[in-house]
Amino acid sequence: MKTVLVTGANKGIGFEICRQLGTLDFHVILSARNCERGTAAANTLRELGYKIDFLQMDVSDEKSIKDAINEFKKLGVKLDVLINNAGILLDKTNILNLETDILEKTIYTNTIGAFWVIKTFLPLLNNDGRIINISSGLGSLNEMSDYAPAYSISKAAMNAITKQFSIALKNKNIAVNSLSPGWVRTDMGGKGASRSVEKGAETAVWLAADAPINLTGKFLRDRKEIEW
Ligand code: NAP
Repeated sequence: MKTVLVTGANKGIGFEICRQLGTLDFHVILSARNCERGTAAANTLRELGYKIDFLQMDVSDEKSIKDAINEFKKLGVKLDVLINNAGILLDKTNILNLETDILEKTIYTNTIGAFWVIKTFLPLLNNDGRIINISSGLGSLNEMSDYAPAYSISKAAMNAITKQFSIALKNKNIAVNSLSPGWVRTDMGGKGASRSVEKGAETAVWLAADAPINLTGKFLRDRKEIEW
C-alpha cells in the first residue's frame, strides 16, 4: 500500500485528491491546519472505507510543520508521495495596489510553506517517490495576467522550487512536478469556475499513481506539459 500526504486537504481540490487516492488503495494522510475541520474531513473518507489518518499542520508555521513530522513518525510508515496542495489567494487587485503584508502572507503559505514541508518530510520520502506541487496557470510566466499578483508571484516561485528540487533529487529517482489544476469550482475558484473538483484533482492523482518518473521537472495540466 502506497502512502500519500496531502496538505490543506480538509476541502476543495486537496480533499478530492485524498478521496480519489483512497479509492486507489493509498494510505492517505489528510493534513489540515484546523483540527476540527481536518478530523471531520478524515472521518468522512474513513466512513467510505478508505485508510485515512489525519495530521494537523499549518504550512505557514515552521514549528507546526516540525510538530507534524513528529506526529507523522508515530504512524510508523514512510512516504511515497507528498502533495503540496495548501494555498491561499488573498489579492484581487493589480500590483500597483498590492500591500506588502498580503504579498508576505501569500508567499509564506504558497511558497515558503511548500519549501518547508518538502525539506521537513524529505527524509521520510522513499527513493522512487514523488513530490507534487499544486501550482496554477497564474504562476506561469507565459500565462500570467495582471490578476492576483501576490498569488501569481507565489506560484511562479513555487514553480522554481519544483525545478530546483527536481534537479537536486534526480539521483534518488524522486520525481518533482508542478501542476495547474485549471479553474476549479472550490471556495477559492468560485461557483462560476469551468471545472469540477473531480477534474481539478485528476492530474495530481495520475501523477501520484501512474505517471512515468521521467516527467520530473515538468509543469503539467491535464497530464500534458505546459510552459513555465
Ligand atoms: P480551497 O477550497 O480554498 O482550499 C484551500 C485549502 O488550503 C483549504 O483546506 C485551506 O484550509 C488550506 N490552507 C490554506 N492555508 C493553509 C495553511 N497555512 N496551512 C494548511 N492549510 C492551509 O482552494 P482549492 O481551490 O481547493 O485550492 C487547492 C490548491 O489548488 C491551492 O494551492 C490553489 O492555489 C490551487 N489552485 C486552485 C485553483 C482553482 O481554480 N480552485 C486554480 C489553480 C490552482 P482552511 O479550510 O483551514 O482555510
